[in-house]
Amino acid sequence: MTENSELRGFYKLTMGERRQLLKKVTSLSDDEIKILANTGGLPAETADHMIENVVGGYTYPLGVATNFTINGKDYLVPMALEEPSVVAAASNAAKMARVKGGFKVTNTGPVMIGQIQVVNVPKPEGAKAKLLERKIDLLKKANDQDPMLVSLGGGAKDLNVKVLSSLKGPMVIAELIVNTGDAMGANAVNTMAEAVAPMVEEITGGRALLRIISNLADRRLVRATAVFDRETIGGGDVVDGIVYAYAFADADPYRCATHNKGIMNGVVAVGIACGQDIRALEAGAHSYASRNGRYKPLTTWEKNRDGDLVGTLEMPMAVGLVGGAARTHPAARANIRMLGVKTAIELAEVMGAVGLAQNFAALRALASEGIQKGHMKLHAHNVASSAGATGELIDIIAARLIEERKIRFDRAKELVAELSKEK
Ligand code: NAD
Repeated sequence: MTENSELRGFYKLTMGERRQLLKKVTSLSDDEIKILANTGGLPAETADHMIENVVGGYTYPLGVATNFTINGKDYLVPMALEEPSVVAAASNAAKMARVKGGFKVTNTGPVMIGQIQVVNVPKPEGAKAKLLERKIDLLKKANDQDPMLVSLGGGAKDLNVKVLSSLKGPMVIAELIVNTGDAMGANAVNTMAEAVAPMVEEITGGRALLRIISNLADRRLVRATAVFDRETIGGGDVVDGIVYAYAFADADPYRCATHNKGIMNGVVAVGIACGQDIRALEAGAHSYASRNGRYKPLTTWEKNRDGDLVGTLEMPMAVGLVGGAARTHPAARANIRMLGVKTAIELAEVMGAVGLAQNFAALRALASEGIQKGHMKLHAHNVASSAGATGELIDIIAARLIEERKIRFDRAKELVAELSKEK
């Protein structure tokens, strides 16, 4: 808490100086400042260059999901997140998927869209035609910005032009279709969009305003599928239950939001562990889910002729191995090595498989014993620990909370008081 948030020149201070000032203007204790100062596996200097006004670091637990076999190859999957049960659920789902050969994943290539908005265009439809006529020149201008990407086989490959009728009247949108190779591509595409904008203005006679990548990466999809053996997952009722659960999500956006959130539990956790822009992943996922005007599940679940469960996932997956934190964060680099992926599309495919696994695990729990049983064990540990239990007391109190079916903070506090005295 602070009385005045106007800290002039804060950005010019060193990390240490920023912390000192922070201590002065807030009620943070020395211990709390020390906790915030810790940058974990990320060197302080690197952190200071990654974002602005850096005062320290913030660490998530890093778990490793086991059992994944994807396109015939085994992977150990690093996952960084705060939510209990996700890593266990992914590992368990992957184990069940192995019975029928694991996950099969394909992708549509690393293709992103860069948009240039042009307003005040005298003849929008005519301007569209003119832009398309000059496609070769526009693509050349875009590609001149990134010889490195072009030399690797990427670059601007196509031009799309549309006329939108908007709140502010018609506007022309020129879209660069860019193969971004092993990069997520936002910087690369934004640079291209900015560079071609003056040419677009000249051709259309309008004014170029926004020049930026679209996070609705519908040309950069992953498609994952897996067959789950009926007996392995608990029988025909579980198969039917999951199909019903999917039908619920398909029919109701309130349920669907949580259905897709479960997918993102896996996608985002791997994304964080591997230094990806998870805001871009979230934006891509949810905009794709509503691309036809209604919010829909990113997965489908069906029963096949043998009575087994077949799951499929289709969603954008804009990830990269060069650029961004994937390159600068040493823990991200180590996690990418643990995973052993060699290209951005391989990382995208792994993340698609994890998303499908996560969704399966959640639906299976929901359609059988309910989600809380699995969740509560870890939750009980968190409750015990936040009530002040330390060391072996955490396990003892968590077990008592579960046994008493009272996984509540007030009860944990009582137990901490009681058992600490005994000790
Ligand atoms: P980048 O610009 O750091 O790296 C990409 C560049 O690396 C390419 O342009 C190319 O010149 C070079 N390169 C070298 N080897 C390559 C290879 N094998 N494949 C492809 N390129 C190779 O990073 P980026 O991926 O263009 O941008 C990603 C960053 O942009 C992320 O950190 C993201 O958070 C940020 N960002 C996102 C948005 C958004 O999503 N809306 C907007 C702005 C910035």
